[in-house]
Amino acid sequence: MKIKLLFAAFFCALFFANAQTNKDLADKYLKKRGELAFTFTANNIHEVKKLSSIISFDHGQNRNNPLTINAIANKKNFNKFLEFNLPFTVNKKLNEPKKVKMYDTKNNVNAKATAYTLTFPLNAYPTYADYAQQMADFANDNPTIAQLVNIGQSVNGKDLLFIKLSDNVGTHEQEPRLLLTSSMHGDEIAGYPMMLSLIDFLITAYNDVANPRHTEIKNLVDNSEIWINPMANPDGTFYGSATYTTVSGARRANANAIDLNRNYPDPKDGPNPDGNAYQVETLAFMSMADSYHFVIGANFHGGAVVVNYPWDTWTAAEGYHADDDWYQFISREYATNAQLDSPSGYMTYLNNGITHGATWYRVAGGRQDYMNYDKHVRELTIELSDVKLIPEAEIQNHWNYNRDALIDFFKEGIYGFTGLVKDASTGNPIKAKITIVGRDDQVNSRNSWVETELPIGDYYRPIKAGTYDILYEADCYQPYTLTNQTITDLQTIVLADVLLTPVTATTPINFVTSSITNTTATIGWDDAGVSSYDIQYRVSGSSTWINTSSVTNSLDLTGLTASTTYEYQVRSICNSSTSNYSTSTTFTTLAVNYCAAAGNSIVDEFISNVQLGGIDNNSLASTTSGYSDYTSSVIFPDLNLNSTNNTISVTKNWTGTSYTEAVAVWIDFNKDGTFDVSEMVFDDPSSTTTPVVSPNFTIPGTAVLGTTRMRVIMKYYGGAGSNITDPCENTFSYGEVEDYTVNIVDTTLGIEDEILNTFQLYPNPVSSGEITLKMPNDIYEFTVTISNMFGQKVYVEDVKTITNNKHTINTNAIKTGIYLVTINTDLGKATKKLVIQ
Ligand SMILES: [Zn+2]
Repeated sequence: MKIKLLFAAFFCALFFANAQTNKDLADKYLKKRGELAFTFTANNIHEVKKLSSIISFDHGQNRNNPLTINAIANKKNFNKFLEFNLPFTVNKKLNEPKKVKMYDTKNNVNAKATAYTLTFPLNAYPTYADYAQQMADFANDNPTIAQLVNIGQSVNGKDLLFIKLSDNVGTHEQEPRLLLTSSMHGDEIAGYPMMLSLIDFLITAYNDVANPRHTEIKNLVDNSEIWINPMANPDGTFYGSATYTTVSGARRANANAIDLNRNYPDPKDGPNPDGNAYQVETLAFMSMADSYHFVIGANFHGGAVVVNYPWDTWTAAEGYHADDDWYQFISREYATNAQLDSPSGYMTYLNNGITHGATWYRVAGGRQDYMNYDKHVRELTIELSDVKLIPEAEIQNHWNYNRDALIDFFKEGIYGFTGLVKDASTGNPIKAKITIVGRDDQVNSRNSWVETELPIGDYYRPIKAGTYDILYEADCYQPYTLTNQTITDLQTIVLADVLLTPVTATTPINFVTSSITNTTATIGWDDAGVSSYDIQYRVSGSSTWINTSSVTNSLDLTGLTASTTYEYQVRSICNSSTSNYSTSTTFTTLAVNYCAAAGNSIVDEFISNVQLGGIDNNSLASTTSGYSDYTSSVIFPDLNLNSTNNTISVTKNWTGTSYTEAVAVWIDFNKDGTFDVSEMVFDDPSSTTTPVVSPNFTIPGTAVLGTTRMRVIMKYYGGAGSNITDPCENTFSYGEVEDYTVNIVDTTLGIEDEILNTFQLYPNPVSSGEITLKMPNDIYEFTVTISNMFGQKVYVEDVKTITNNKHTINTNAIKTGIYLVTINTDLGKATKKLVIQ
């Protein structure tokens, strides 16, 4: 009986195992591991391209079958893949890696949470506790050459640790920074124990004068600053182990199931190319790269065995890196070193162990391109093993295969041109850009130049053998070119200090005014090689300049008045030196020519009153012709953007008989000088029964802020029910046209704006003298602008400090009239009306 039952159970299990579809397996692994490794074959290259930005293509793609892709996805992205309706297979092996042994006195598969002291080279995987303890020990036991640097924490709060190695490790000296980090893909961990063994090897050889490699390693460590991070994604590496004691469940992504090597800004696709927020691990690495300038770097992965050099995002057709020859040289050097120290076949993949990234498969959001493009770091991606989670017995072998390659890789960061750039008069180091002429300035050189780092002013330019002209540039200094500098491979050339001559700020020349409209213009001038420019402009002949500044040699002027001649002057600024202002350059804004419209006769009828927002323009006595221009004499209340309840009322006046009059109103919302059909706010058909028409109208959200023209037409029709359609009828028989100026404002207030609006302005009206602005508490810095009703700025002041919340402005130079006073702070802005009498 028992045997029969066993057989039945066996066949049952077999049956169910066979019935388990790829989709079942996918669901199972996604549930268990939060990510899935699978293989599919796309129909065409377009599909491959689309999918490459949805799921992660894995290392180790087969170039002979480019449409067959090994991929990894989290649940969300796998669901997106399913929408393509492509068949796929799920390989159990890839999703259930073989269990590996952890470092422990008993070499258990499941190690204890206690930290064990490690012995090197490693032959098992350290637990997180072993690792953290060992990293601390490296620094504690060797305080003069080793320092523990913690750049931040993973999603689950595990430290992202580096060991920094150098002589005088606590001081940054004139030495290149070299960077190694491993296992940002949590399950690609051959590099994790390898980096620990490397740190141990460097320290041991450095400390022991009898070590056969002592002199070589001491030279390396004394002349560089080495940064090594063995574990860039601890939550992925220890996935599934709550105690962080086994790597057997390691997965690629971080704790949020995000692939960290798709999570960086991409030089081609821009920020957040994977559609995910930058992860805390990514942010920590980006912040480190902002703080420290690295010369070369390598990023260790697995799943293939090959050295991958930039670019990952740009294909060969889009252009190689300007230093492609050097990249191939150091990649080949690494692969050859690894081949020499390993059994035949290791690191021979693709082009005998090396590949251009995107030629293999394109990656967007990878760290390699981010470091190269954004940070000018020469970074490689090095794939260490075909099996991502190598068995513990292979750990020491892989260390041996790569040890010499790693040491020689470090040396490549010391080779090249190096030196200091200083100010010729003070001798102080300066921030300068170093360009290899004909290389870094080519089309598609893509940021291959390097720059000095302060406070030392040192630079490092690894480069392939050749003879080069080197251009040194810095703001406010004369550029300098060092010509005919010859270097061989594997050579360091320390160039003499480059002393750049500071330039005295010279008055800008060759002004060009372009893109002139009725309210804007762009002004430009020759680049004076300085750090910034002051610009002053005004209506030609006016007494008050409006001051502003720019860090580039052009500026957009806005808020100008139509048909007005402006003058502007520019001066340049270099540190403590400021040039004279240039002589004035003038330009005239375009006219806004509204079409003419008028009635021919006002004998029998005309508009006697227009009321908007409670303000009347009673024109009964003043109407003298079929056209009246009130654009500069009538001030209606401001109209709010998006407001729906504005009421305008127009009164028809008959001198005798009541005739059938139509009324229409337009507002030029987009300020283009034309009354478009969509800008008609009201159209009342001809009638005699409504002598006062008072409709509501809406200010569209698309209206341009500021003052614009409103046209009111009243026109006689020989019968009831006719509508006015033409805002430009000049002339029609009977009736009148009146033009007005209205001001459109945005009063959508946030809490900050509400607070800002409590600012006071007095006296108001003011009789051409001092006004006081009383500001809300805690507002000390703001810009105050006074504009007339046409939006023309007549006064601008940057206020940096105020006393007792008060600031005074002298209005003597401003003509009498109605103005808008705007205060602009970093919290928002607020505006009040000011009358100057
Ligand atoms: Zn990887």
